[in-house]
Amino acid sequence: MQFSEVIGQKRVKQSILQSAREGRISHAQLFAGPEGNGALPLVMAYIQYLFCKNKSETDSCGECPECRKIAKLMHPDVHFVYPLSLTKSKEGGIRGTESKSGGISKSIDVFHQWKEAFLQNPYLSLADWMEALEVENKQMVIGVDEAREIIHQLSLTSFEGSYKVVIMWMAEKMNITTANKILKVLEEPPDKTIFILITENSHLPITILSRTQLTRVPRIDEEEMIADLICKYELTGEAARYIAQTSEGNYRVARILASDKEHTDFHFQKFAEWMRICMKLNGEGIIGWVTEMAGIGREKQKQFMAYCIQLIRQSLLLGVGFPVRLRQNEEEFLIKFSTYLPFSQAALIAEELNKVFHAIERNANPKILFMSTSIRIHQLLK
Ligand SMILES: [Zn+2]
Repeated sequence: MQFSEVIGQKRVKQSILQSAREGRISHAQLFAGPEGNGALPLVMAYIQYLFCKNKSETDSCGECPECRKIAKLMHPDVHFVYPLSLTKSKEGGIRGTESKSGGISKSIDVFHQWKEAFLQNPYLSLADWMEALEVENKQMVIGVDEAREIIHQLSLTSFEGSYKVVIMWMAEKMNITTANKILKVLEEPPDKTIFILITENSHLPITILSRTQLTRVPRIDEEEMIADLICKYELTGEAARYIAQTSEGNYRVARILASDKEHTDFHFQKFAEWMRICMKLNGEGIIGWVTEMAGIGREKQKQFMAYCIQLIRQSLLLGVGFPVRLRQNEEEFLIKFSTYLPFSQAALIAEELNKVFHAIERNANPKILFMSTSIRIHQLLK
């Protein structure tokens, strides 16, 4: 991954490039910021820059053997650690993932899936990763076996004479034993090693925070997101702006919305219909709607939910007189609808829909899910 492939984050790129050029490369670094900000691609571009044999002032060459190996996640000196599920996969367990010490497997055991998931979408989220692993269980952990592996990896000499790197993605998923174990590496890092932790929140033990150099990776800038969406998804400027604003700097949400541009009318129609039948508690209507929506497939259901959540959020803004980005039919509907939807209730509905989005990701039964949510929305609308 080159810096040029990382969306936006101009300021962060400048700052890490400058410290790299000046040879100020901290042994223990923490990249923190919200989901969809691109911290992982940014870290990959940074590592590739450090390893590149033919770099410029602002980017790696993308073509030397080092760059190629890192881009394909095949460099022998760059290792990854990520959360894993405590349970078996849906299809009877991923081969070789169960360790003797109680079920938590090591990252290396599912590296193939990780590589595939990352190469397909470097902006992947924890939910995407869980989907790739086909694990329904929500609990994802970076277990203590990983700490041993990290210490082991960093203690070895590098294969190619450069740095030894360990990248820990979603570091907030470390359990306390793991966190305590890695303190030693953070305190006394072996020579020529770089340990990078990536997190979506700052709820890491203070012992970790105090021993790492922090780089904040904020939400993606709106204009930079727009430019990317226009280029990658061939959207009009207006459509790209709409998506950039509704996704609030989260490229993961933006991707879902952008790849779905033709379906916005369908979504609006289904949303309006849903709210009407929920309000009246029209049994026949609800059954018809649930049956139809249960049949459109999981990806489409997620896109629909992402759309609904954004629309409700926009209605919240509308309610307090903030400028909103809505199509005309959406705005007209929401203005009428707001009579039945006080501010507090709208927030609760958005929360419900968010739960539905995640439940779909975890393979919940769509019929049961949509049916119970319809009844819940009816209660909230009363
Ligand atoms: Zn290179």
